[in-house]
Amino acid sequence: MRPQVLYPLFKPVDTLKGVGPRLKPALERLAGPHVVDLLWHLPAGAVDRRHQCTINQAGHGELCTITVRVMQHIQPPTKSRPYRVICEDDTGTLVLTFFHAHADYLLKILPEGALRVVSGTVEHYNNEIQMTHPDHMVTVEEIDTVLRLEPTYPLTHTVSQKVLAKAIHGALAQTAPLAEWHDSALLAKHGWKPWHESLLKAHAPDDLADLAPHAPARERLAYDELLANQLALGLVRRGMRKAKGRATLGDGDLRAKVLDALPFALTGSQSMALGEIIADMESDLRMLRLLQGDVGSGKTVVALLTMLAAIEAGHQAVLMAPTEILARQHLNTIQPLADAAGVEVAVLTGREKGKTRAAILDGLKSGAIKIAVGTHALFQDDVEFADLRMAVIDEQHRFGVHQRLELAAKGSAVDVLVMTATPIPRTLMLTAYGDMDVSRLLEKPAGRQPVDTRVFPSSKLGSIAEGVQRKLDQGARVYWVCPLVEESEKLDLAAAEDRFEDLKKMFGERVGLVHGRMKGKDKDAVMVDFKSGKIDILVATTVIEVGVDVPEATVMVIEHAERFGLAQLHQLRGRIGRGSGASSCLLVYSPPLGDVAQKRLKIMRETEDGFVIAEEDLKLRGAGELLGTRQSGLPEFRMADLEAHQNLLATASNDAKVILEMDPDLKTPRGEALRTLLYLFERDAAIKYLRSG
Ligand code: ADP
Ligand code: MG
Repeated sequence: MRPQVLYPLFKPVDTLKGVGPRLKPALERLAGPHVVDLLWHLPAGAVDRRHQCTINQAGHGELCTITVRVMQHIQPPTKSRPYRVICEDDTGTLVLTFFHAHADYLLKILPEGALRVVSGTVEHYNNEIQMTHPDHMVTVEEIDTVLRLEPTYPLTHTVSQKVLAKAIHGALAQTAPLAEWHDSALLAKHGWKPWHESLLKAHAPDDLADLAPHAPARERLAYDELLANQLALGLVRRGMRKAKGRATLGDGDLRAKVLDALPFALTGSQSMALGEIIADMESDLRMLRLLQGDVGSGKTVVALLTMLAAIEAGHQAVLMAPTEILARQHLNTIQPLADAAGVEVAVLTGREKGKTRAAILDGLKSGAIKIAVGTHALFQDDVEFADLRMAVIDEQHRFGVHQRLELAAKGSAVDVLVMTATPIPRTLMLTAYGDMDVSRLLEKPAGRQPVDTRVFPSSKLGSIAEGVQRKLDQGARVYWVCPLVEESEKLDLAAAEDRFEDLKKMFGERVGLVHGRMKGKDKDAVMVDFKSGKIDILVATTVIEVGVDVPEATVMVIEHAERFGLAQLHQLRGRIGRGSGASSCLLVYSPPLGDVAQKRLKIMRETEDGFVIAEEDLKLRGAGELLGTRQSGLPEFRMADLEAHQNLLATASNDAKVILEMDPDLKTPRGEALRTLLYLFERDAAIKYLRSG
């Protein structure tokens, strides 16, 4: 149970004073749904309002805080002119101006004859000293709330600085000191103060240095977050391990049949990874293993052989993919091989309905169907298995850590293999998976040739099309990628359709189009045609990004390459260079090319190494984005910055290990405090693993 002190923090943001139905969605988008989310929204800068002066000292363009007497309100003669409030001190006259003013409101906060403190940018204009829309107008008693280094928060156009600051202030008012969860030696070593003090300090910097990632208050909060992350991962892993797994001993019969049916031999990496996985399965501990391999490294076959080992021992297996296209593609790969071994396979996605779905559910429940390939639909409540033993999750960046934790918490005694298409740098690895067991596919299948990658401005599209013609004449198959981003979806879709029409004019009926808005069936049909060679140019939005496998495709044109992130470009390019033919990738950009985009394209030209690309990507953008968590909602880390706080991550990882060794059920007083920490960072799923959680 969540400790009571935290209750107010997990109320919706609109329980705060001054947050109504209009502000609520904006705050939710900016920070998150709960009061606690506002606490983690730290200032990005600060405005120095400590310059207090008299009117005659206030220079043009200066940010000043001035105490004045309100003399007179002057209504504007027409709507387009500003409302004016004349103020004075002993040295001169200051005119406050307001456009689209509400007179009632201004008369209330600036009553004639009263002393007021105003703060804002001063302008000398038409022989007058003016301040347009002062940032603050308060009574003399309240001067301390203005005369300070005022934090400024990252925001979007839907929320103003002032409104956001007020909401955050309200959230801070809901907090109280909490029992210390860190070791006192660690606190002393870094000069860290208690949590509550640090939190308040992080929101009330005394000087600009307090805003740096290594300021003690910020560092402490970042460490809190990292420790919560590492502790949660440690708990889940330990919980899964402790849960008595069952030894799965297959006789190798089905695997042998499939290996026979494969047109190739496994690579050394594939055999080694498989060996590690099988050893996990044969032990009576629960498996939680990550299979990491760059695009095209051949993870699918490993997954299939793993599932077959479970089936040999009389159990069932699932393979879960992040998208419908991928699930069907896995099915297409697996089906003929499973047929060769006489194993029944079914696909279950949101598309299977009515009788079809009922039949599949029956088959899974009776145990007749041995392998289920599908999407999230596999985790619906009415999907029951006779004896599920192995779950393979083909993750491809799409699932966040949160979901994985939840899934793990839900699983009973099922062995879990998570597959991921590398680019996860070592630093991120630790935060996303803790010290989970990892198998790596380091080598690509033999015979692959490097992809020749070139960069062109869009003015060269004509000659690119001619080049494509030549390749087609040689029998190549071509991906032609048009970007599609949510904000400009309609326009992008139109652009893709236009390109499709253009190419049809040039190349006739050999051109197909596939995009995310199409019905599943139609998408499949186009993909099948491309795979079979019935069409040889596929115009596609990024739906082909993940996992699509057509080894005959050897050319990829990416339009507006400047709009894609590095990881995305790498994933896209990974669709070619899969067969034995030489492949080329043409990155087409529309000038002018920004700095970062230019760097990205350069990296793409220089390397195909997923690790290098991932490291560079991490440098060019934030870590949360890299893990794909931005898309799935909120960023993974709110205060920790994986570049700045890398050393803290290693410490947190060790710290978590030691804690779980000494106090595995978090029962000591420090353990109690650590539970609060886990709740504070919403690692509730991990707490379920504690014996008396
Ligand atoms: P990914 O790791 O990106 O999921 P896939 O499993 O889709 O890669 O495999 C990519 C391609 O490589 C597929 O066409 C697959 O049949 C082929 N492949 C897999 N293993 C080998 C191998 N050992 N030798 C040759 N080709 C292989
Ligand atoms: Mg794959």
